[in-house]
Amino acid sequence: MGNPKVFLTIPRQEAGYRPIHDRISDYSEVEQTLNSRDRKLQASRCMDCGVPFCHWACPLGNKQPEFQDALYKGKWEEAYKILNETNDFPEFTGRICPALCEKSCVLKLSMDSPVTIRENEAAIAEAAFREGYIKPRNIERNGRKVAIIGAGPAGLAAANQLNGKGYTVTVFDKNEAPGGLLRYGIPNFKLHKPIIDRRIRVMEEEGIHFKMNNDVDVRQLPEGFDAYCICTGAPTARDLPVPGRELKGIHPALDMLAQQNRILAGMTFPKEQLVTAKGKKVLIIGGGDTGSDCIGTSNRQGAASVTQIEIMPQPPVGQNPATPWPQFPVVLKTTSSH
Ligand code: SF4
Repeated sequence: MGNPKVFLTIPRQEAGYRPIHDRISDYSEVEQTLNSRDRKLQASRCMDCGVPFCHWACPLGNKQPEFQDALYKGKWEEAYKILNETNDFPEFTGRICPALCEKSCVLKLSMDSPVTIRENEAAIAEAAFREGYIKPRNIERNGRKVAIIGAGPAGLAAANQLNGKGYTVTVFDKNEAPGGLLRYGIPNFKLHKPIIDRRIRVMEEEGIHFKMNNDVDVRQLPEGFDAYCICTGAPTARDLPVPGRELKGIHPALDMLAQQNRILAGMTFPKEQLVTAKGKKVLIIGGGDTGSDCIGTSNRQGAASVTQIEIMPQPPVGQNPATPWPQFPVVLKTTSSH
């Protein structure tokens, strides 16, 4: 394990965001990085708890204590291998996961100062790409073919897993480039799109075929495959069936977020199709991650003002004394979009 008592002397240190005056005028990633020494010190704060709530809270089952320990000892490749056992794409989750592990970390519960698990994860993934630990695998084929419908996060993860098991995988998607919500939902200032392209290149080199601009009708699946994996539906908006919904200027979040990302990728749209907050007083309905992505995008587009409303009461900042057990939704979660 790291250093069992070092959390007493080394405080949590986040890499922080670029200054507001700098970041508000562009769409480059907001989050900064720590140097390797400070990053290892942050990993050393992990206590290797007997009951690691971080692991329990992670939907992927990431082995946080193990990869913190490897990182603390400077074993970056080993840290990546541990991370990659449970996580296909730590370079994505290290940037955009809401980090339920940190909300449940014993150092969060005891002193409101969790291990910087998510940032450590991103740092390990970046080191793995930089140092060449991530190489296309030589995979023995099993003679079976699988079609994946949808190149969003679920489709990409399914493709990566099945490809690793020897299936010949083809991914179909209606969009012009793979990534789904990673590419057409999450703003560039949280996830820079070359990060997706870099991973897709590795997947292609491993033999995965991507067929883009291919809007598959699930009632007429492409022929020639032994199995199909349907990974679609995430961009479908939950509409608000209220009077006035049809009025001009009311848009589902993805109309704005996807278009902005496409504009940054070089596409152009006629003026009447633009969904822009420029010069407007914007009201955002919904206080989750997508709502905060709309705040960040509206600010960058030059909104006159931005107001956000949320149906739930405002949770406390920091741990809620009424619910001292590890339960992630009870604290006010902020993201780099806010
Ligand atoms: S709960 Fe926090 S301190 Fe404990 S093992 Fe997990 S990351 Fe380390």
